[in-house]
Amino acid sequence: MHQTLEMRALNVEENMTSLIMIFGATGDLAKRKLFPSLYRLYNKGKFHKFAVIGVARKSMPNDAFQASVRDSVVSALGNKENIDEFISHFYYQPHDVSDSSSYGSLKTFADQIDEHHKLEGNRIFYLAMAPEFFGPIALHLKSDGLTDVSGYKRLVIEKPFGHDLESAKELNKQIRTAFSEKEVYRIDHYLGKEMVRNIEVIRFANAIFEPLWNNRYISNIQITSSETLGVEERGRYYESSGALRDMLQNHMMQMVALLAMEPPIRLTTDEIRSEKVRVFRALRSVEGDEVNEYFVRGQYGEGEMDENSVPKYRDEPMVDKESNTETYVAGKVMIDNFRWAGVPFYIRTGKRLKVKSTKIVIQFKDIPMNLYYQTEKMLNPNLLVIHIQPEEGITLHLNAKKAGGHLDAQEVRLSFANTGIHAMNTPEGYEKLLYDCMRGDATNFTHWDEVAYSWAFVDKISAEWQKTKADFPNYVSGSKGPDAADKLLEKDGFFWWPVTDLEVDICK
Ligand code: NAP
Repeated sequence: MHQTLEMRALNVEENMTSLIMIFGATGDLAKRKLFPSLYRLYNKGKFHKFAVIGVARKSMPNDAFQASVRDSVVSALGNKENIDEFISHFYYQPHDVSDSSSYGSLKTFADQIDEHHKLEGNRIFYLAMAPEFFGPIALHLKSDGLTDVSGYKRLVIEKPFGHDLESAKELNKQIRTAFSEKEVYRIDHYLGKEMVRNIEVIRFANAIFEPLWNNRYISNIQITSSETLGVEERGRYYESSGALRDMLQNHMMQMVALLAMEPPIRLTTDEIRSEKVRVFRALRSVEGDEVNEYFVRGQYGEGEMDENSVPKYRDEPMVDKESNTETYVAGKVMIDNFRWAGVPFYIRTGKRLKVKSTKIVIQFKDIPMNLYYQTEKMLNPNLLVIHIQPEEGITLHLNAKKAGGHLDAQEVRLSFANTGIHAMNTPEGYEKLLYDCMRGDATNFTHWDEVAYSWAFVDKISAEWQKTKADFPNYVSGSKGPDAADKLLEKDGFFWWPVTDLEVDICK
């Protein structure tokens, strides 16, 4: 054990001195997630030396930018401790990323800040901007010398990484002209979530689970990520994305990989990634007519949420009145390898659903002979529930004798709840990811191979769906989603474990 931890430590550089250049520094992501996360790292004393250059088109003096950083920290965290000291590390440079001529002055400015704060030529480029800019920015960073540094250089890139496999390949080609694969940190913010990171520990640090973690003892695995929000102001982006590209290709498939991967021989980035890639290689490809056997799509209609009427997706701003874009997707993913042959991984995600919840349910097979079958209630299957958000924890569902009864069994739940982190997409996820990036630990970022396999899988589904116009809308806002998603499991003799029923103990 000691040796393993040592190996993990050897995997990272631990150099917390860096110039962080945030492209898109006046945007929503920077304000809501990045600045508060940097502040928390700063207040925890994680940085040795650092400075931030914010980049966007808007013209603004430094002090106005620093004031906006202060506002975003205070409104996100309500904390002002050391705030003046913190914001004094922030600088602003107006720059249009599509204007090739202004990268030169950005380089000069970055070199000056580097020199002033003695940042050892370490540079992190964080692209918090629309994806069409990712490739051109990377090319310019190289051609205009911003990546010619004496320390490390790293590129942090937000989702979506491409629109399909072809566009992802093209983007990757552009990025790789300036950065090696080891220098690219593709964000999947689910990999920053505490309980997603915990999957590895739950599986590989417990003698009671790993022997059961296979097709002999597990009947099916269910991953649900449901949102109550609609598309909000993101209609334009969402129209070209949909739930399949926005959620399934990245977050849901990453969770499948973490649940299904073999134990890595060491806890190093390369070993973990290579085990995840092996899962992607074993995915059963679904194409043509099979798509509608394995996958279900949906789009929300109007309905009631918290007693307020909400419009249907097609009436949202910047959405086509005849839109064929799915706001819900459910599917059965099969992993054709020795461990998982025959075990369905059911995944579902959607907007405007009844509850906001991300959960994983591992359903174990029934015991070979049920001695308690004749009692008043049939035995419940054993479940291991991993609560990802909003609550965080684990519940193990067992059967035990009912107190005082004869030999009647009843369901009991053993729960562990992580306390203190309650909001979806809390800054904490970004905080961990930023910290990892500065330490040079790329384990919780997606490797290109994972992205490519995942797109190859998803592209076949979207190709089939593009051929036909769906009968949308097919679920009411505030419901559990389309009926067809239930039928998907009924065909196999299963049902979705209702996420609301699984919450009980952990919320207390
Ligand atoms: P946003 O609010 O629209 O911000 C975009 C930023 O880019 C602004 O600072 C904007 O400032 C700047 N910008 C636009 N065009 C520019 C140009 N030509 N040159 C320089 N700067 C330019 O977007 P966002 O919501 O922050 O999202 C950014 C990225 O993060 C996207 O890839 C998104 O998919 C991803 N993401 C966001 C969230 C989230 O919660 N917001 C979550 C996950 C992923 P100016 O207009 O002043 O130039």
